[in-house]
Amino acid sequence: QKAEWQLLANEPAITLDSHRVELSGNIGTPDDVESVLKNGGEAIGLFRTEFLYMGKEQFPTEDEQFEAYKSVLEQMNGKATIVRTLDIGGDKELPYLQLPHEANPFLGLRAIRLCLDHEEMFRTQLRALLRASIYGNLRIMFPMITTIDEFRQAKEIFLDVKQQLISEKIDVNETIQLGIMVETPAVAILADIFAKEVDFFSIGSNDLIQYTMAADRMNEHVSYLYQPYNPSILRFIKMIIDAAHKEGKMVGMCGEMARDETAIPILLGMGLDEFSMSASSILRARSQIQKLSKATLENQIDHILSLSTADEVLQFIKSLDS
Ligand code: PEP
Ligand code: MG
Repeated sequence: QKAEWQLLANEPAITLDSHRVELSGNIGTPDDVESVLKNGGEAIGLFRTEFLYMGKEQFPTEDEQFEAYKSVLEQMNGKATIVRTLDIGGDKELPYLQLPHEANPFLGLRAIRLCLDHEEMFRTQLRALLRASIYGNLRIMFPMITTIDEFRQAKEIFLDVKQQLISEKIDVNETIQLGIMVETPAVAILADIFAKEVDFFSIGSNDLIQYTMAADRMNEHVSYLYQPYNPSILRFIKMIIDAAHKEGKMVGMCGEMARDETAIPILLGMGLDEFSMSASSILRARSQIQKLSKATLENQIDHILSLSTADEVLQFIKSLDS
């Protein structure tokens, strides 16, 4: 089966009824790009930049970061590359960054919240990204956004850093898209408003499920609540996709759900534009998508969203196969 999938590496992800979606790779280091390309990844949907900051004695320098971003962009050779700004804090600690102890780290100072609180650290990352932007097709996204104000603040800092570089006569790409990860219910509910301001959405289903179900994604005692097919999650996803499309914006997904065999037909039927996953899942997902019909699935969405439980959804999707 693997050999059969490998033949699909250079094919687009097109459904039986000629609907095309983008299949992208998630990476954690520049070394991961090779395997995304080998497995037929058409873009990078998520570059987690945490590795640059972890296992170190001090913050990575601007040049160190610049080299890493440049390497990824050059290897991608003009293909879209979404880099996520630092998503750390909460449970992930850095030895050189003293943060207050928090009783609820997942509800605390993490990701964009931490970056806005440590503006110099954030500016250094944005400077490195902007300098690297001329080497490829860079898009930037902010993790764990909760309010419009956070996005505006992040964007303002980005524009300020860009102006600064231009005044130093350093070349930057003028048309970098700025997007957000949709990981909080607050953003999902306000997706219509966010869609007017951001350039794209990428649904971080791992966190969106955690925060919607109010269940720590690492806590085995409540792992039964980690339910990607729960209709509450599916209704959120539908709202997010519809809101983005109403404003002509692209919406992808880069959480685990994007590679899930049961979720893929649902996401396809709802109109998700981009599926981003680890390299090892791309060929299997492409093979599955090529056997599905978007129009047929689209007609099932209302019914799926009317179901009451995750298990009912699972059984219904299974029944479509036979
Ligand atoms: C997510 O939350 O779905 C996501 C992709 O981000 P991470 O898993 O890095 O939190
Ligand atoms: Mg996340």
